[in-house]
Amino acid sequence: MSKIAFIGLGIMGKPMSKNLIKAGHELVVFDIDKAALEELKQAGAEVAVSPRDAASKANTIITMLPNSPQVKTVVLGKDGVIEGAQKGSIVVDMSSIAPLVAREVSAALAQKGIRMLDAPVSGGQPKAIDGTLSIMVGGAQADFDEILPIFKAMGSSAVLTGTVGAGNVTKLANQIIVAINIAAVSEALVMATKAGVDPDLVYKAIRGGLAGSTVLDAKAPLMMDRKFNPGFRINLHIKDLGNVLETSHEIGVSLPLSAVVMEIMQALKADGMGDLDHGAMVQFYEKLAHVEVKR
Ligand code: NAD
Repeated sequence: MSKIAFIGLGIMGKPMSKNLIKAGHELVVFDIDKAALEELKQAGAEVAVSPRDAASKANTIITMLPNSPQVKTVVLGKDGVIEGAQKGSIVVDMSSIAPLVAREVSAALAQKGIRMLDAPVSGGQPKAIDGTLSIMVGGAQADFDEILPIFKAMGSSAVLTGTVGAGNVTKLANQIIVAINIAAVSEALVMATKAGVDPDLVYKAIRGGLAGSTVLDAKAPLMMDRKFNPGFRINLHIKDLGNVLETSHEIGVSLPLSAVVMEIMQALKADGMGDLDHGAMVQFYEKLAHVEVKR
């Protein structure tokens, strides 16, 4: 097995890279966070001094960074991946970024003979730890087939949805559904609580019916247990909804519900809750109704 470079060792990148080591891959890692580098060193990875250095030591370069600007800097910037990667190597960007930026980065890499897949994920930290992420991929079929064994060490499903950029379009669709679903769960549980009905019994009564969802099962118990540590930060979901609205406006699509949920998240951020889990959206509705959703 050839060596893999892994750049971006945060909430998601850390467990994903550890799963690659467990699956028998040799890893060279980079992050600006020294503590994260030390943790991966202990887990058996080689530590690089820059994205360029990491890329020069591997044929497959995975990035798991916050957003478009960081991916551009790490891949195309000074001492970036593009300066170190060999011709014929492949960059797999697993961050959630704007589809247009994924295409831009891919075009710049192609000029140097470097291939790219955009492969954002869904499932959050628990599934990153279990290696059961859902991976949505854009790129060439042959490149997808080549990387599939690597995806299988991090996820339970990987689906090629189109050419480069399609992975991030799919992720934006995912983030629309998750954001609006959390808002709907919040509205429903606040309404039930204010009406004097135990929200836990409401949850148990409806979870098997049409209102049931992965979001309901993941977030309603955490809301009722008042567990709002991330998980998936409100600030990151704001980033994703920013990409959703920017992309949809560019292509002439109006998304009224996404826009409303974006404003709810902006209000929570302004209230100092940007680093809480997106399940904390329930607190926006609790303030309006003067109730607390709890078991
Ligand atoms: P995070 O903020 O925990 O991790 C990002 C990492 O990138 C950090 O370790 C940071 O130090 C590093 N980094 C930032 N700039 C860098 C640079 N210039 N060079 C090197 N390293 C740099 O974020 P996360 O939660 O791991 O999310 C990563 C991506 O995955 C985001 O795009 C996010 O939207 C997406 N995502 C997150 C979740 C989740 O539940 N957390 C779920 C699905 C998708």
